[in-house]
Amino acid sequence: MLRNGLYIIATPIGNLQDISERALSIMREVEVVACEDTRITKKLFALLGISLSKRFITYEDHNEDATTQKLIDIINSGQAIALLSDAGSPLISDPGYKLINRCREQNIYVTAIPGACALITALQLSGLPTNRFMFAGFIPNKDKARQDLFSELSPIDTTLVFYETAPRLLKTLQQAKNFFTKRKIAIARELTKMYEETVYGSIAEVIEYFTQNEPKGEFVLMIAPPREIHQYTLDDVRFQLQKRLGETSLKTAVKEICEQYNLNKNETYAFALELKNESSPR
Ligand code: SAM
Repeated sequence: MLRNGLYIIATPIGNLQDISERALSIMREVEVVACEDTRITKKLFALLGISLSKRFITYEDHNEDATTQKLIDIINSGQAIALLSDAGSPLISDPGYKLINRCREQNIYVTAIPGACALITALQLSGLPTNRFMFAGFIPNKDKARQDLFSELSPIDTTLVFYETAPRLLKTLQQAKNFFTKRKIAIARELTKMYEETVYGSIAEVIEYFTQNEPKGEFVLMIAPPREIHQYTLDDVRFQLQKRLGETSLKTAVKEICEQYNLNKNETYAFALELKNESSPR
């Protein structure tokens, strides 16, 4: 028997098999399901062979306030509610934030059953640095808002991740070209589905590709950081510097390592000097 509370459940983003055993068992057991579109969620339950004899309640952004209290009352009356979005992880460019916030304020039990999430799956496939990234949700539709967003985000030293739709993709890329010159991008499309595809290259190359191949389906757009962030540690730098210091001059070693890791010259020089002094006999 489930304890009363809210169960945030991730559902597949395409491939129906991407659902966990834990998600299935909670979906079978809950009395109430809060979801974006009851038709879509009922269809998912049916496809997964789960009984539809539960209460399905629509929970969207525009009715969040009214429905939030209703859901809180249901939980306080002793029931368990599953929160699902149409696909993927709830709350990630999907409703739910206010509900979780209210649950926190009222000390209501909340747990999350992790699973598919388009942005994470896309990042894994991208070939772009994953040690630091910023997810910025959907790209605005209006030119000015899009420009402002790109101008705000372009100096940030992380991989940028956006959700985008097929009809807007080429326009977005055309505008992105002005802000993210020379940066590699990756576009992941139709993840976990039959036509899954990841396109990688310069913005110009990707525009060319999608001009030849009409954009169809669901998209995640990812942009490499302004400087290539290598997934290295200080130990990697120390090791390489020490190695090169044993083989060449301090100046050459610093130059090479700075180029290799895109590091600041003065800081690297100081670090190399320290290493050299440490290793030289007193
Ligand atoms: N919460 C969801 C998640 O965890 O992925 C995202 C919901 S958001 C409303 C929907 C957007 O996510 C789509 O417009 C698309 O940009 C992206 N998306 C969802 N499924 C996708 C898929 N299978 N392949 C590529 N992108 C996908």
